[in-house]
Amino acid sequence: MASLIKAVRGTRDLLPPETESWNFVEAAARDCFRQYNFHEIRTPVLEDLSLFQRSVGEDTDIVSKEMFAWEDRARAESEKGQWLALRPENTAGVVRAYIEHKLWERPGVQKLFYMGPQFRRERPQKGRYRQFYQIGAEIIGSPASGSESPARDAEVLELLATLLDRLGIENWSLQLNSVGCPEDRRRYNQALQQALKPVVAQMCSDCQRRAVTNPLRVLDCKVPADQPIIEKLPRISDYLDEPCKQHFDHVQQILKAVAIPYTINSRLVRGLDYYVRTVFEFTHGALGAQNAILGGGRYDGLSEALGGPRAPGIGFAIGEDRLVMALTEVAPATARLPDVYIAPLGAGMDAEAARLAGELRRHDIVVELGDESFRVKKSLETASKLGARYAAILGENEVSSGQITLKNLATGEQQQVPRAELPNCIQTTRT
Ligand code: AMP
Repeated sequence: MASLIKAVRGTRDLLPPETESWNFVEAAARDCFRQYNFHEIRTPVLEDLSLFQRSVGEDTDIVSKEMFAWEDRARAESEKGQWLALRPENTAGVVRAYIEHKLWERPGVQKLFYMGPQFRRERPQKGRYRQFYQIGAEIIGSPASGSESPARDAEVLELLATLLDRLGIENWSLQLNSVGCPEDRRRYNQALQQALKPVVAQMCSDCQRRAVTNPLRVLDCKVPADQPIIEKLPRISDYLDEPCKQHFDHVQQILKAVAIPYTINSRLVRGLDYYVRTVFEFTHGALGAQNAILGGGRYDGLSEALGGPRAPGIGFAIGEDRLVMALTEVAPATARLPDVYIAPLGAGMDAEAARLAGELRRHDIVVELGDESFRVKKSLETASKLGARYAAILGENEVSSGQITLKNLATGEQQQVPRAELPNCIQTTRT
C-alpha cells in the first residue's frame, strides 16, 4: 500500500464546522474595519528575505531562527538566485507596498487591514503553529497626515476592544507600554547591559545570548528561575525622553476617556526591532501558556529603514488561531444545516431538482440536492442524517401539477405546497 502523506508538521487543516467560527471572526473584523474606515490590502505570501532582515531585525528570533527562507533558482547561470522568504508577519509587506505604490500621495493617513497566513518555524504546540493566521491593520502616513498622533494609537486600541467585545470574548486584558524612541532604547539597552553583567551568568542560556545580541529581549524570558533577576532590572519608563513620555500620557488620557481598561506592563517590549513608543498586547486567560491573542505597536522609523519616506505608523496583528480558540470556549462552532433536501424521484428528475434548487437558493435558502437514483426511503434517510429541516419530494406528478410534497423532518408532517409558495413556507419556520 502507498504510504500516507500527512499535513506538514506545525500546519493543519481547518475543517467544518470549525471554519464557521473562522468566518464569523473574519466577518466581525471586516464589519469593524468598515466602520473605522479601514480598507483591505493583500500582499504576497512570498517576499524578498531582506525585507524582514531590515524591518523585523536580524537579531530577532523570528528572523534568526524561525524563517522559512531559501535561495531561489537563478534565472540565468550568470545570475545569483534571489533569497526569498515566506512572510513571518505582514507589517513589513504592507509598508513595502506603501512605499512601492507611493501610497503617501493619497490623501490623509492610510488605514489598511489584512487577513492571511503567516509562517514561522516555531516548535509547534497548542496555540502555536508554523502556518498560522493573522488579522491585522496599520495606520500609516506622512507626518503631515497626523499619523504620529497618539490619537491614532488610541483609535486602534479602541477598535480592538470593540471587536473583542462584539465577538463576545470576555476577560481580555490590555497590556500597554512605551519603548520610547531609538535614542531612548539605545540608552536603556546600555543600562540593561550594565545591569546584566554581574547577574547574567546565573540566567538561562537564551538570556546569556540575548544579553549580548539584544538585551531588551531578556525581558521576554519566561524561565521561572530568571524572574527575580529580571524584576530588579532597570525599567524603560525611566529612560523615555519628554516627547515620548507626553505621547504615552496622551494615549492613556484618550483610553481613559473612552473607558478602555489597560495595565501598564513595563516588561512588555515585543520581539520585533521596528517598534517605537506605544507597544501593546491583549491577553486572554483561557489560552494557557500562549495567552497573547494579539500584539502591536508603533513603528515610526520603519518606512525609512526600508528606503521609503518618513511615514510614522501604528498597527496590530491578531492571532486568528488563538482568537478562534478563545471564541470556541464560549460558543462552540455549529454549521448552518440545510433548510431543505430536494429528493428527485425517478429518471429525468435530477434536472428538475436542479431547477427547483435554483429557485429556492435565490431566496437564500440552503438547499442540498438528492439523486434521482435513490428511492424515497433512502432520500428521506439521507435528508435526516444531514440535519435538513424539510425534504421536498419532486416526481413527475409534482412537476406537472406544480404542487410540491414538503415533508417536515422533525414532525413527520407532510403537505402539498404550490411551487411559488415553497420559499415562503420554508423560510417562515426557520429558527
Ligand atoms: P507577533 O507578530 O509576534 O506580534 O504576533 C501577533 C499575534 O499572532 C500573537 O499575539 C499571537 O496571537 C499570534 N501568533 C504569533 N505567532 C504565532 C504562532 N506561531 N502560532 C499561532 N499564533 C501566533
